[in-house]
Amino acid sequence: MPTLTFLGAARTVTGSKYLLETDTTRILVDCGLFQGFKELRERNWQPLPVEASSIDAVILTHAHLDHCGYLPRLVAEGFTGRIFCTQGTGHLCRIVLPDAGRLQEEDADSANRHGYSKHKPALPLFTEEDANRALLQLQLIGYDRPVPVADGLEATFINAGHLLGSSYVRLSLGDAGGPVLLFGGDLGRYDRPVLPDPTPVSGADVLLLESTYGDREHSPSDDGESLAQIVNGTIERGGKLIIPSFAIGRAEEVLYWLRRLEDEKRIPVVPVFLDSPMAERAREQYSARLDELDPDIRKASEKGHAVGRLQAEHRMCAFCTSRFEVVTSSQQSRELTSRKMPAIILSSSGMATGGRVLNHLHAGLPDERNTVLFVGYQAAGTRGRRLVDGEREVKIHGELVPVRAQIASVDTMSAHADSREILRWLGGFTRPPAMTFLVHGEPRAMDALEGTIADRLGWPTTKPEHQQTVDLAPYL
Ligand SMILES: [Zn+2]
Repeated sequence: MPTLTFLGAARTVTGSKYLLETDTTRILVDCGLFQGFKELRERNWQPLPVEASSIDAVILTHAHLDHCGYLPRLVAEGFTGRIFCTQGTGHLCRIVLPDAGRLQEEDADSANRHGYSKHKPALPLFTEEDANRALLQLQLIGYDRPVPVADGLEATFINAGHLLGSSYVRLSLGDAGGPVLLFGGDLGRYDRPVLPDPTPVSGADVLLLESTYGDREHSPSDDGESLAQIVNGTIERGGKLIIPSFAIGRAEEVLYWLRRLEDEKRIPVVPVFLDSPMAERAREQYSARLDELDPDIRKASEKGHAVGRLQAEHRMCAFCTSRFEVVTSSQQSRELTSRKMPAIILSSSGMATGGRVLNHLHAGLPDERNTVLFVGYQAAGTRGRRLVDGEREVKIHGELVPVRAQIASVDTMSAHADSREILRWLGGFTRPPAMTFLVHGEPRAMDALEGTIADRLGWPTTKPEHQQTVDLAPYL
């Protein structure tokens, strides 16, 4: 004792869950869903190796579902302790978790109606009600303030710059000056406009480090140039620019750039529509917590435009162009799909697997004046990936739709540090951790990062297996 058991994100990028056990307590850091391939998703249904009711507390690094999406299930299985997280994370959890529950219920429902599940009846992993119940256990904590979370454990949340509210968690064991575990969560990027740089950290005895992009370097920022070209080309043709966008985080970054390009007169003023209720709720959270974001965005908000429909309030908005409009009802959304004027439409989901963006694609793909722009990672097997790969027709709502619109993508908006940025962050450590556990990466990325750390820093690292338990005593 103490021990750490890797219940997720071990040699894979989803399902983050780390069980820390000491002589007197048992806590979980992150409580994420497995996503992607079926064999991974099936792990969501396997029981945890310990009773949910025996866990004293949960600590969340951020509100992406692969870090928080298992919470409703954990609570349904009997976890009654507190869930510690930052305010930003708590507010975003209130948006994403009930929505995830609703989707689980809808999926189970449609599997039962169409009989395509081998389970009779198909059940949701958790329900919207489970999610709402889990939210009652949230305990919101400010950044940089040590708080006791369980017997002999004190946690501090440090801004990681990866998403609103995102953090790494510094856990100290025992009294002040005791050993320190640093759970890296997901690490953000440097010199980006919306989110701040990852906060420097000077040391820890044990480090958990994400390795999503441990094997690559992102393309350098082009100061919005490719986005400007795509907007200008589309508007000159009299077309619509349709941007499938992840509802939280990515939408804010795209809106920031559109607004900046417009202010700098590098693109014309055209209507910009945000057509995703979840993205709009997240945008409100981002706008309300500007002090946690990059200084750039605070400057931008000072000379902000009043929000289209909310002009009566004269509210300034860092993420609004001059003709910005939020689409609220699905009726409005349908009207927008049939309008034939140049415009920019952001709508989710980001990989075009569902949501309102499908209606825009259905109406917009057959017209060669339009452009569909992807701004995030497109996983294998998704409609987004098929479009990026150049397929000439795609199926939407059971109908084959010809692709005549231009398909474009920009890859400068990733929210995860690349290998150079990870190394830059590690460079702030004044002494090496006794052990660095590489997590949250595919094996290839992990192997590459392990090699880089060995070459440049000479630190000992290890790549734990799924469900492996490690005795931490030798490192503390
Ligand atoms: Zn994340």
